[in-house]
Amino acid sequence: MANEPQTPRNSDTYDVIVIGGGPAGYPAAIRAAQNKLSVACIDEWKNRDGTYAFGGTCLNAGCIPSKALLESSELYHRAQGEFATHGIRISEAKLDLAQMQKRRASIVRTMTQGILALFKAAGVTPLTGHGKLLAPGKVEFTASDGKKRTLSAKNVVLASGSTPIELRSAPFKAPEIVDSWGALEFDAVPKRLAVIGAGVIGLELGSVWLRLGAEVVVLEALPEFLAIADQQLAKEALKHFKKQGLDVRLGAKVTGAKVAGGTVEVTYTDAQGEQRLSVDRVVVAIGRRPYTQDLLAPATGVQLDERGFIKVDEHCRTGVEGVWAVGDCVRGPMLAHKGKEEGVMVADLIAGLYGEVNYKVIPSVIYTAPEIAWVGQTEEQVRASGRAYKTGVFPFLASGRARAMEQTAGFAKVLAAQDDDEILGVHIVGPLAGELIAEAVLAMEYSASSEDLQRTIHAHPTLSEAVHEAALAADKRAIDNINR
Ligand code: FAD
Ligand code: AMP
Repeated sequence: MANEPQTPRNSDTYDVIVIGGGPAGYPAAIRAAQNKLSVACIDEWKNRDGTYAFGGTCLNAGCIPSKALLESSELYHRAQGEFATHGIRISEAKLDLAQMQKRRASIVRTMTQGILALFKAAGVTPLTGHGKLLAPGKVEFTASDGKKRTLSAKNVVLASGSTPIELRSAPFKAPEIVDSWGALEFDAVPKRLAVIGAGVIGLELGSVWLRLGAEVVVLEALPEFLAIADQQLAKEALKHFKKQGLDVRLGAKVTGAKVAGGTVEVTYTDAQGEQRLSVDRVVVAIGRRPYTQDLLAPATGVQLDERGFIKVDEHCRTGVEGVWAVGDCVRGPMLAHKGKEEGVMVADLIAGLYGEVNYKVIPSVIYTAPEIAWVGQTEEQVRASGRAYKTGVFPFLASGRARAMEQTAGFAKVLAAQDDDEILGVHIVGPLAGELIAEAVLAMEYSASSEDLQRTIHAHPTLSEAVHEAALAADKRAIDNINR
């Protein structure tokens, strides 16, 4: 049922205006409405077919379409290589990419239209077009038909998100050199694909097209693989990716990409000197930058930092009364769930309620196979902190459920403090790691010890037993593993 707005309003006055309807902005709008505030959410996202859609990068060109293709491509790959092991004989798994892409587009459409349904139920006014903060409490709204109106609100939440970083040496040139959005919408499997950047997005997109039959080379400038992750985890993941045929080249800095006759000549330097690579398509996935184009009139007082992020404190206050900013356009990891929690926090703070985001306990997930997920500190970070610690590792090879699933790659690892046994980090590479990490997030949110996890009953046979056994292994008390 729709919440009754607290403030009687004409159509241009709200308690809260949210600029940006991605996973940071739309939850802020919904929570503000749940808090009985009158809310409008402005969004200008336009899809390639010319339709406008709420949901931002995440729903239209990020989290959701990438997961749809990861799921489909993994099924295709497993049907080819694994079904026979299960005793399922199929004559041949044939790829119907058009159908796969149709399914991806349909999931995106359903999810983005779902936001409008959520807005309707909560009583949020959706406004399609561009929003610009003119001054505290004043927003210029340019509707999709070009008409401008000045709206008023006591509070404005900026949630304008981020955009892909272009590589100067390999500028975007569709259809050959594309960003992550372009790579989600290929209508044919490229024979040879180069992915620049072995970050989360590069690895996910590289996996999709590798499984669908492309030869994939991933060029990563850093000498370390997944430098942000626990290195034991990163090494294990890299071993499996290489086995799958993903050609990951580390210490490979791209210096140029020239398109000629439908082929791209990529040049890069590595320890051996200058290298060349001929491919059909290039995906540039070297990261994203905050997007604030035409968001702020000159004298609003809202400040950007040297990298273009909107400056905020730990409660997402910009320092200008009544102006807040959340999600990818502010500091912190560029993750949908981080933005969502910030949006909800701000909407609660605006309503005078309690709100907080625990930035120390934000899970990270990479939806490759094996999947990668972690929360808290890596072993390298704990070591650098000087705190004495213990580790427990449990391999999925020893998990009955993982064996039944034919997915025994990887392990779960628990890091706990030597002194008070506090869990400092949990790192999982293996089947459904992104689901399994939720237990660790909850445990850490409650400052659990490894003993708390050890004494928690885990159903058998489940993958979650690996987390349980890893906690036991931290005290050398694992039951189901010889190498405890
Ligand atoms: P966005 O989602 O970018 O939304 C901002 C919205 O604001 C957009 O719709 C934009 O058009 C609109 N906007 C901007 N300025 C204005 C303006 N002035 N007026 C009106 N509207 C405006 N994260 C995860 O957590 N999990 C994943 O699995 C994951 N996978 C990803 C896969 C890919 C390929 C990519 C590219 C990203 C992925 N991400 C993932 C990251 C995630 O998409 C972002 O962290 C998230 O979308 C950020 O949310 P946001 O609301 O801050 O910004
Ligand atoms: P992420 O920030 O997780 O999206 O990862 C982007 C990755 O791209 C990082 O690991 C960067 O080191 C990498 N990268 C950035 N510039 C280049 C470049 N010129 N060539 C190869 N890799 C790069």
